[in-house]
Amino acid sequence: MTTATKKVKVRFAPSPTGDLHVGNIRTALFDWAFARHTGGTFLFRIEDTDTTRVTPEYIQAAIDTLKWLGLDWDEGPEVGGPNGPYLQSLRLDIYATWAQKFLDQGDAYHCYCSPEELEAVREAQRAANVAPGYNGHCRDLTADQIAAFKAQGREAVVRMRMPDGTTTFTDAIRGEVTFDHKFVPDFVLVRADGSPLYTLAVAVDDILMEVTHVLRGEDLLSSTPRQIRVYQAMGVALADYPTFAHLPFVMGQDNAKLSKRNGEVSIAWYREQGYLPEAICNYLALLGWSPGDDRENVTMKELTELFTVEKVHSSPARFDMKKLEAINGDKIRALTLDEFLTWSLPFLTKAGIITGSDAEIELVKKALPIIQERLVKLDEVPGLLKFLFVKEFAVDAEALPKISDDASKDVLKRSLKELETLSTWDHASIEAVLRAALIEDMGLKPRIAFTALRIATTGSTISPPLFESMELLGQQTCIARISAAINS
Ligand code: GLU
Repeated sequence: MTTATKKVKVRFAPSPTGDLHVGNIRTALFDWAFARHTGGTFLFRIEDTDTTRVTPEYIQAAIDTLKWLGLDWDEGPEVGGPNGPYLQSLRLDIYATWAQKFLDQGDAYHCYCSPEELEAVREAQRAANVAPGYNGHCRDLTADQIAAFKAQGREAVVRMRMPDGTTTFTDAIRGEVTFDHKFVPDFVLVRADGSPLYTLAVAVDDILMEVTHVLRGEDLLSSTPRQIRVYQAMGVALADYPTFAHLPFVMGQDNAKLSKRNGEVSIAWYREQGYLPEAICNYLALLGWSPGDDRENVTMKELTELFTVEKVHSSPARFDMKKLEAINGDKIRALTLDEFLTWSLPFLTKAGIITGSDAEIELVKKALPIIQERLVKLDEVPGLLKFLFVKEFAVDAEALPKISDDASKDVLKRSLKELETLSTWDHASIEAVLRAALIEDMGLKPRIAFTALRIATTGSTISPPLFESMELLGQQTCIARISAAINS
């Protein structure tokens, strides 16, 4: 993709009809990375002309999601810029002016066909097995015909005239693409109520906002000839058309297009589950792009250094939740203790495990290193650390039978005896004394001996490393819990 002549400006232009999803964010990430790599501008525009589906809450959520992911924009909502406003709902007069110009120039015309008439045309086309689309009925109405429609009280949409022929453009990922206008019928620019359609607003804005590159999902490829038609009607010189680059589809593991069923859930969901933004960005970066080698760990900085459109694949990418989980685990392990603490505290407070007192935070800080190695997602933190904070300790119902037998009681009794007199309470001393007593002296298998202790002290068969957990619990608490287990 040549960037020699003009400073790059690339835009992310979602229509937030819900929370942003994996596909949207993959597009935003590539847009951002491309802008940062080229030293260009990243523009963020909200396409909210469909007021029945886009809500202020979804708009705010889109803004928050981009911020949370660290995809900062140079022009757009909140930051402003020379080409605002960046919400299309605030630009309606601009689209109306252009639509009128297209009408005046004869590029567009009023179409009075009713929905029923259009449906009848589609029906006939289906029956005759010809490509569906507007049949040009109102293209060349006479003044009398127009007067007659008006007299009937009919409302008109504004429709763009699509000349015979073809549109060809060079997609930076797909190469040369040609659309035969036989399959690109005259299309609506403005609804009868005066509201603009996507094709009008997107094309006008990309030109007025001086966008140089349109990187977006492949689902929008087929809308490109219509947008180019709008550029032509605007009188834009060919050299000023943006370069298009259509990113490959993201498929689920089952090879079906990504949907709710196979991973396409909102980014808000991933956030609640405890995925780190760097993990999401790292993983999404690899969906359709590769850094040129087979590394799977890419930082945001590396992404901006390495991202080029040439390295984007044209074949579909496959979403793999397991890979995302593995990357998330890697990113969690790479956090400093303070970062890990900052990320974990909201999960602990939300789960009601801590209230946030200094003493609690101190203990969390001591405990985090012992769980950092094995974590996949941050939402596992409360479950793993709960045993340190519970006021009314009780062994999990499903674990209780495992320490009710005589052999387990013997383990616990012997452990209690050793631990009561232990003078240095740290994990190495705890381990040494218990191994000597239970494994060497009593001849037990470690798994048997330590499972009983794990259940008695943490309440569960799954816990952070046992001796470190016992150190954090403290001698008195361990003794009290083991005694309670013996007597239960
Ligand atoms: N607003 C469009 C959408 O969310 C995308 C616009 C574009 O990238 O051209 O589907």
